[in-house]
Amino acid sequence: MARIGIAGAGVLGRLLAWQLSRAGHHVTVFDPASGPEAPPTGQLVGGAPFAAGFTAAGMLSPIAELDNAGPEIARLGWRSLALWREVAEALRADGCRAPLFEQHGSLMLAHGSDLGAARRVLARLDTAPTLAAELPAPQPLDRAALATLEPALAPGLHAWLLPGEAQVMSRDMLSALAVHAKNVHWCWGERVERVAPGVLHLMGEGPVRFDLAIDVRGVGATPDLPLRGVRGEVIWLHAPGVTLQRPVRLLHPRHRVYIVPRPGDLFVVGASEVESEDRSPVSLRSAVELMAAAQSVLPELAEARIVHMEANLRPALPDNEPHTHTEPGLLRINGLFRHGWLLAPALVQDALAALADMEKEPAHA
Ligand SMILES: Cc1cc2nc3c(=O)[nH]c(=O)nc-3n(C[C@H](O)[C@H](O)[C@H](O)COP(=O)(O)OP(=O)(O)OC[C@H]3O[C@@H](n4cnc5c(N)ncnc54)[C@H](O)[C@@H]3O)c2cc1C
Repeated sequence: MARIGIAGAGVLGRLLAWQLSRAGHHVTVFDPASGPEAPPTGQLVGGAPFAAGFTAAGMLSPIAELDNAGPEIARLGWRSLALWREVAEALRADGCRAPLFEQHGSLMLAHGSDLGAARRVLARLDTAPTLAAELPAPQPLDRAALATLEPALAPGLHAWLLPGEAQVMSRDMLSALAVHAKNVHWCWGERVERVAPGVLHLMGEGPVRFDLAIDVRGVGATPDLPLRGVRGEVIWLHAPGVTLQRPVRLLHPRHRVYIVPRPGDLFVVGASEVESEDRSPVSLRSAVELMAAAQSVLPELAEARIVHMEANLRPALPDNEPHTHTEPGLLRINGLFRHGWLLAPALVQDALAALADMEKEPAHA
């Protein structure tokens, strides 16, 4: 049983705290946020830093993300799907009633005039022959098949089903992981300035020693890591009576827009990707473009009410790849960029296995 200190209570920090405490370790988590709750909805949220994981739509799209990322991301993401299912089942068994995970595949859509651009994206998804045995391929749907699956979508769209893709209810999952992580000591309002093997240096308070120090501060881990924030914006709509069973993503020469259905007749429309560390509220331009694209796919959204807009920063390293570092007394995971929910459980699983192997090594020496 080890004393473990975690800097950061975002996706990685909460998942690690929940898993390590279940394994019997003494876990303490430090985060500058005022508490475990999601930022309030119904407001223009920007400005104050909070975990990017709250803002994320929580899409688990290993196949679609091959458009922006390599086969290893797809592989890790595919493994994470099964792991999130297990996490959600364990939380349910622990009494969590909120839906946390849904898996009905997802749809890629293109308007007729954008078929050329869509075919180029599909060709990129096909450029991973090594993955063919591991991941299902996109399945083209004809008009009748699409109308059966999702009758509310605009007629005349080209569509492909991405079997097995899923979503996590990001806000509820983050809350559930904090609430159900037993025997974790949460230190809110505490900023960690620097992380070194076995030590977290707290701002204004000095070093606190642990057997293992974990750095999962997202964009807050500068200057220890060469991170940048990549701005992303989402809009929440309330549209009673509009039915969508699964996340959909519009392939378009200029925009990548997705609509993710959430319980309570809510829809998350996202997301912009802007090379800027500006956390201010959503811009008019992003709002107009995201909502126009969403309504072109799901015309019934015309009467939806805009309930919330939110901007946040994705933590990215120079190569836009996730990075895990392990050495005795230290674990860092960062750079999850646009794939944090997609990758977190597999990265955590691999990192904990690497640490366990490291512990065994001296015994064999
Ligand atoms: C608009 C948007 C949409 C997205 N959609 C998706 C999606 O659909 N699917 C997907 O897989 N990913 C998505 N992402 C990406 C995903 O949210 C991130 O990759 C993920 O949140 C990264 O997890 P993390 O734990 O590294 O960082 P975070 O979730 O950002 O958590 C970092 C935590 O560290 C804390 N912290 C910061 N500084 C300090 C400090 N000095 N000391 C202590 N704690 C500190 C923060 O307060 C925060 O709680 C999206 C992101 C955005 C912005």
